[in-house]
Amino acid sequence: MPNEAGENDSAEQEQSWEECTSSDDDQDVSWIVWFCTRKGNEFYTEVEREFVEDHFNLYGLKNQVPYYNHALDLILDIERMDMVLSEEQQEKVEMSAEVLYGLIHARYVLTSAGLAAVNEKYQSVEYGRCPHVLCEGQAVLPVGQSDVPRVSTVKVYCPKCQNIFYPRSSSNGRIDGAYFTTTLPHLLIMTFPEIASIGLTTKYVPRIFGYKVHRGEAALPKPGSDAAAAAAVRTSAALRDTKSLAGPAPSAAGQGPPSD
Ligand SMILES: [Zn+2]
Repeated sequence: MPNEAGENDSAEQEQSWEECTSSDDDQDVSWIVWFCTRKGNEFYTEVEREFVEDHFNLYGLKNQVPYYNHALDLILDIERMDMVLSEEQQEKVEMSAEVLYGLIHARYVLTSAGLAAVNEKYQSVEYGRCPHVLCEGQAVLPVGQSDVPRVSTVKVYCPKCQNIFYPRSSSNGRIDGAYFTTTLPHLLIMTFPEIASIGLTTKYVPRIFGYKVHRGEAALPKPGSDAAAAAAVRTSAALRDTKSLAGPAPSAAGQGPPSD
């Protein structure tokens, strides 16, 4: 599994599929629906059954997943009576089914049906919002940093500032990024160009006492050094000028100590 942000969240231990199907309430839930609605799996879209049933779409996956046939049967809710698995084997099949679903998902989300499903989730802000203040709550899209499984966890991409971030919920951030591909948000934007017509975020400008910080000067002098003292004199002089123009100014951020 991905090695980043691997916080252990013991509360996350939910019912296994086996436990789920043994309770009467959930008899009619398909494995795909059950899996995609599990806590932490909300980023996944539900892959259409027909897509999973088409062997062409699964080409090359057989060698990547142990217990492939059993895992595929589990995903498709096919029960085989001819082979009874031990509890340990059943657990391994469930783990394989999760990996196999992720690998199938990576292919599905790049199809037109998959892109439409992802767009629907994006429009309902199911992947969260950009944490960048100047993006003003822009909805984000899932993205991988690698197409090779087990390299890094899923991130979110903001179409406005074009940056990537960790998902807001750490439970979503445990999913393998390869299951969302490095391509997904960019292909989606190409397919639905209206998503990208948002325009770039206004650039944040760092300022000290209202003055732009220039890169050269921004090699900030160490406090207490001669350069720092000179800078302090410069800025206080600048501040005096500002005050004389704007009248008496409130103390910085309104939190300064009261002056007598
Ligand atoms: Zn942003």
